[in-house]
Amino acid sequence: MSTTEKHHFQAEIQQLLDIVIHSLYTDREIFVRELISNAADACEKLRFRQASGQPIYQPEAALTISITTDEPAGTVTIADTGIGMTHGELVENLGTIAHSGTRAFLKQLAENQRPDAKLIGQFGVGFYSAFMVAEKVTVLSRSALPEEAGWRWVSEGGAGYELEPAADLPRGTQVVLQLKADAKNFARGEEIERIIKRYSSFIQFPIELNGKRLNTVQAIWARQPGEVKDEDYHEFYRYVGHDHEKPRYRLHFSSDAPLAIQALLFVPQRNFETLGLGRVESEVNLYCRKVLIQSHAKGLFPEWLRFLKGVVDSEDLPLNISRETMQDSALLQKLNRVLTGRFLKFLEEQAVKDPAAYDEFYSEYQRFLKEGVVTDLPHREALGRLLRFESSALEAGKRTSLAEYVSRMPAGQKEIYFLQAPSRQAAEASPYFEGFQARKFEVLFLYDPWDEFVMDHLHTFQDKPLRPAEKADLDVSDAPGGEGALSAEAAADLAKWLKETLGDKVKEVRVSRRLVGSPAVIVDSDALMTTTMRRILRAAAREGAVPSPERYDLEINPRHASLVRLAQERQADPALAAKVAEQLLDNARVAAGLLEDPRAMLQRLNELLERVLGGAPAGQA
Ligand code: ADP
Ligand code: MG
Repeated sequence: MSTTEKHHFQAEIQQLLDIVIHSLYTDREIFVRELISNAADACEKLRFRQASGQPIYQPEAALTISITTDEPAGTVTIADTGIGMTHGELVENLGTIAHSGTRAFLKQLAENQRPDAKLIGQFGVGFYSAFMVAEKVTVLSRSALPEEAGWRWVSEGGAGYELEPAADLPRGTQVVLQLKADAKNFARGEEIERIIKRYSSFIQFPIELNGKRLNTVQAIWARQPGEVKDEDYHEFYRYVGHDHEKPRYRLHFSSDAPLAIQALLFVPQRNFETLGLGRVESEVNLYCRKVLIQSHAKGLFPEWLRFLKGVVDSEDLPLNISRETMQDSALLQKLNRVLTGRFLKFLEEQAVKDPAAYDEFYSEYQRFLKEGVVTDLPHREALGRLLRFESSALEAGKRTSLAEYVSRMPAGQKEIYFLQAPSRQAAEASPYFEGFQARKFEVLFLYDPWDEFVMDHLHTFQDKPLRPAEKADLDVSDAPGGEGALSAEAAADLAKWLKETLGDKVKEVRVSRRLVGSPAVIVDSDALMTTTMRRILRAAAREGAVPSPERYDLEINPRHASLVRLAQERQADPALAAKVAEQLLDNARVAAGLLEDPRAMLQRLNELLERVLGGAPAGQA
C-alpha cells in the first residue's frame, strides 16, 4: 500500500507557479538568495528555540547551510540544520495557503511589461523562485520537534505536489532542485559561489559549498559606524531590504541609556506603497545579541514608520520572550519611543544638512509623516517640524517649513495661515486668498487633500495657531480702492435683505472686511469646519457615512461694484435683484467647490444674460 499523498496547490499559487515557470527568464539566479534566506530563517528559528530552552531533535547538530552541486546529475541542493517542517507545516507553507503577498506579486507581474523577478522575496513567496530553474523540486524535511518524523515533498510545478514519509533524515531541510535543460549552469560550483557572494554575504550562519566554508559571519550593525564601508552597507541593505536599489537614507547608531540598542535603519529609495503594493509591512528585524527575536517586528516602530527597513538589536530583551507577550510589553513601548525619537532627530538633521535630498525624501514619503501627525500624539510636535508646504511667499515648486514661515511673520501677524486648494493657480485665484495678498500676509498652499486634517491635528506650531485662510479674521477694509463702497449702514441693510431673500439657503449673511476683488464668499458656519472638509465629508457621505447638516454663512464685499449696484436695484427691480442674489450665492458656492448640480443655476444665468443683452425682463416669461 502506498503512503504517498497527493495535494493540490491552492489556485493562486498555481497561477504564480505558471508565471514563474513560463515567463520569468531574467535574474533567475536570485533563487539561490531566496532558498539560502529561507535556510537562514530556519536556522534563526532553531537558535531561538534553543536559546529559550525548549527541547530539540539532534541538539548536537551545528547550525549550517550546506550547498552541493552535482554537474553530471544536473542538480543543486540547499540544505540546512534549522527548524525543519512538520507534515502540517509543509502543507501549509509550501502550497496550500497562499501568503497575502501572492496576489500582490501576481498583480505586479501582470502590470509590468518586464516583470521584476528580483522582487519575489519582497512579497513573501521566495520559495517558488526555485521553479524558475528547476523542473522538479524535492523538499526533505525533519522538524526540530523531537516527537516528529521526516517527510518528502515533491513537485514538478504542475497542479500539485506529493507528500510521503521519509526515514532517517537529519534535522532541518534539504531542497533538491533538478535543473531544467536551460538552467544547468546552476549545477556548477563556481556559478553558485559567485551568486552567494553577490547576495548572501551577510548570512549569520556558516555556508558551505561542496564541503568548503564560504562566508564569515558579520553582524554589521554591531560594528562601529566609522568602521563600515558604504558598499558593505549597501550589500547589507540589499539583503535585509530585498531591494536592489541603494537606500535613500541610512541611520546607524548605538545607545546605552535608557536602553542598550544597536540599530541600522534604512529608508528605501522608493515608497513601495505608491508602487501598488498596498500597505507595506515594517521590515525591521528585532535581534537580541544577534539572535533573531522577531523578523518584521510588530510594534517596534509606530505604524507611520512602516517604510523603514533594517535591524534593531537590544541586549535588554529577554531571549525567551514570545511573540504574543512581545506585542504589548512595556519594554517594546520603551524601545519604540527611543527609536522613533532618534529617527525623527535624524530626519531633522538631514533636512538641515542637505535640504535638496530632504525635499526628495519628502516628495516620496510625506504621506507617512502626515499620518504620523494625525495618529502619533507624542511625536506630533517633532513631526510638525518636518512638514513642508508651498507658500505664497515662495515661487511655485519650492516648499517651506513651518519654522521658516514663522521666522518671516511680520510683527502684527499672530497666526499661521493656510489655504487648501487643488493647485497653485486655484489658490492664488481664490477669494479666500485676496485679503492676505492685500495685507501681505504669507499663506501656505496645501494641495494634498489630507493637509487640512493634518493642520487641524497639529493645531499650533511654536505656540502660533494654525488657521485656515477661510476662517481667519482679516481686516482689509482700509485697503485702497474703497471709494464708492457702500456705507456701513447700507451694507448692513443689504446683508439683512440678502438673508431674507435667500432664506434657509444661508445661515447668516455678513459684511466682509477681508474681501478685495470678489463680490462674496461662503464660509462654513460650523466654526471647526472649512469648505474643503465639507467637500470631503460629502464624498464620504456618498459612500455611506452619515452626512452632517450643512449651513453656510455668506460674506459680502461692500466695495464690489456688483453689490453696490445690487443695493440700488433692490428697490428699482426687486425680481431682478432676487435673481442676482441667488446667483451671487451660487457663484460663491462654485468658488468653494460646493455646487454639485449647476443646472438650476445655468437656467437663471441664461435669464440674466438675456436681460443684460436686452431681452425680456427677468422674472417674466
Ligand atoms: P517567506 O520566506 O517570505 O516566508 P517563502 O516563500 O520563501 O516566503 O517561504 C515560505 C515558508 O516556507 C516560510 O515562511 C517557511 O515557513 C517555510 N520554509 C521555506 N523554506 C524553509 C526551510 N528551509 N526550513 C524551514 N521552513 C522553510
Ligand atoms: Mg523566503
